[in-house]
Amino acid sequence: MALKTRLDTEAINLYYLNARYYDPQVKRFINADNNINTNISLLGFNLFAYCDNNPISYSDYSGEGKVWNWIKDRISKAKKFVEEKVIQPIKNTAINIIDDVINYDRNNTDEQKTYNSHYFSAYKGALVIRIKSDFLTSWSVCNTIFLNHNNDNRSDRAEILNHEYGHYIKEQEIGTAEYLGKVALPSVIYNGLTRVESSWFNSTWMYDNYYNMPWEYNADLNSGIVRPEHKPWAKGIHDLYWGIK
Ligand SMILES: [Zn+2]
Repeated sequence: MALKTRLDTEAINLYYLNARYYDPQVKRFINADNNINTNISLLGFNLFAYCDNNPISYSDYSGEGKVWNWIKDRISKAKKFVEEKVIQPIKNTAINIIDDVINYDRNNTDEQKTYNSHYFSAYKGALVIRIKSDFLTSWSVCNTIFLNHNNDNRSDRAEILNHEYGHYIKEQEIGTAEYLGKVALPSVIYNGLTRVESSWFNSTWMYDNYYNMPWEYNADLNSGIVRPEHKPWAKGIHDLYWGIK
C-alpha cells in the first residue's frame, strides 16, 4: 500500500507560529524550540510544549520565548493609551498654538489663511476664534468672529467669513449692547424657530428668507455679498429696521 505524503500546512492541520509548527490536537510543537526555558519549571525542558502547556495564561508570540499575557497586555495598553491620549494631544495642541502665534497677523485679509488656523487668527483687524460645532455654523459677537472648523473645506468659506465680518462691522458701528438686541437675539430666535418641528416656522419660507432678514441682509451689505435668494423688498425692510432714511 502506497502512503501519500502531503506537506502543506492546511492538509495536516498545523499552525505555523513564526518559528515553529504547533499541533492543536496534541498541544505540541512538531519541531523543537530553539531555546531551553531557563525557568525552574520542569516543562521548560520539554522543547515540544507550548508555554508550559498553558496557552490561556501565556503566549509565545515569537515562538522563541514565553511572555505572561496579562502583564504584557496591560503594559502595552497603558503605554499606548498614554502615548495616544495624553502625550500626542498635548504635543499637537502645543504645536498648533505655536503655529497660530507664528502665523498671527492682525491685518490679514486672506480668508484661506484664517481657515488654516487651529485656535485663533485675525481677519481685517477682527479676532477670529476657531470653534467646532455641528449645530451652529459660524457667528460674530463681542467684537469676535467665531469661525467653525466644519466650514474649513466648504467652497463658500470666503463668503461665510466675509458675512461674519459684515456682522462684526455692524457691532463696531452700534456697540455690543445694541448689537445683541438687534442682531444676535433676533438671529438666535429665527434660527430656533426654523428648528421647531411640524410648524409654519419650519417651512421653506423661513429658510429661503434667512438672508433677507434685516440683521442678516445688513451683514451681506457690509461685506458686499449679493445672494440669489436676496429679495427686492429686503433693502426696504433693512432701511426701516435700522432707521435709515
Ligand atoms: Zn449672519
